[in-house]
Amino acid sequence: MNILIVYAHPEPHSLNGALKDFSVQHLQAQGHTVQVSDLYAMDWKAPIDATDSLAAPVGPHFHPSLDSKHAYANGVQSPDIAREQDKLRWADTVILQFPLWWFSMPAILKGWIDRVYAYGFAYGVGEHSDQRWGERYGQGAMSGKRAMLVVTTGGWESHYSPRGINGPIDDVLFPIQHGVLHYPGFDVLPPFVVYRTSRMDEARFADVRSALGQRLDTLATTAPIPYRKQNMGDYMIPALTLRDEIAPGQSGYAVHLDASQ
Ligand SMILES: Cc1cc2nc3c(=O)[nH]c(=O)nc-3n(C[C@H](O)[C@H](O)[C@H](O)COP(=O)(O)OP(=O)(O)OC[C@H]3O[C@@H](n4cnc5c(N)ncnc54)[C@H](O)[C@@H]3O)c2cc1C
Repeated sequence: MNILIVYAHPEPHSLNGALKDFSVQHLQAQGHTVQVSDLYAMDWKAPIDATDSLAAPVGPHFHPSLDSKHAYANGVQSPDIAREQDKLRWADTVILQFPLWWFSMPAILKGWIDRVYAYGFAYGVGEHSDQRWGERYGQGAMSGKRAMLVVTTGGWESHYSPRGINGPIDDVLFPIQHGVLHYPGFDVLPPFVVYRTSRMDEARFADVRSALGQRLDTLATTAPIPYRKQNMGDYMIPALTLRDEIAPGQSGYAVHLDASQ
């Protein structure tokens, strides 16, 4: 398998650095081909701006989506963006690895998503009609590929449990797993989360490595999170609300899971 690890931590000697190195070695030892986008090491430029297109703004001033669309369609994207898109096309499986910072991904990784997920590549794709609303949420450029988050948190597992104060981890990660990964078509595997990282010692680190190794060994076979696909009849189009007869009276993130999948 071709596996891309997009990795966001500033310090190679961190826990994240050690887990990333372990993943690369483990996957290569199993015969996979691995590429790593080490965003801090690459000095990845996070902010979207007019330099993301080699062409002048298409309108009177810079417009993030329209200039992204024009640059993508005309092959005039900044080369760093095009290189990362090529890696995504190459990959069968994509792993995003990061420490949870303020309940989300580090800004440098968000900036990778913002810039690499160009208009016409990851969004704004496909027919918009009464039957379909673009190729997204289960369809799109990443269809047939798998993705998984590897996340570390300072908070304890109980803090992220169903009644935990931080909110359930599935809810905290929903905007990334459903919004960033399912949206352009990835099958999203359950995340690998390391909680309470301040309580790490050699024995626990060995257990974490072993658990991560098992998840890496089953990347191709683990059942994805059963997110509903947008254009398969569960949602009314173009309102894009779940049909009344599905999960009647319920709301919240969990209604977008289809237990029958
Ligand atoms: C800006 C910011 C925002 C944050 N927001 C949140 C938040 O919203 N929610 C939340 O839960 N947490 C939050 N945190 C905490 C953060 O998620 C954790 O600090 C982070 O996940 C720890 O990962 P690390 O790679 O930086 O670990 P490190 O600090 O590098 O290491 C953690 C522990 O692992 C040990 N360790 C490292 N490498 C090894 C090794 N090779 N072998 C054995 N042990 C090792 C270290 O000694 C240390 O004890 C935040 C932190 C910051 C800085």
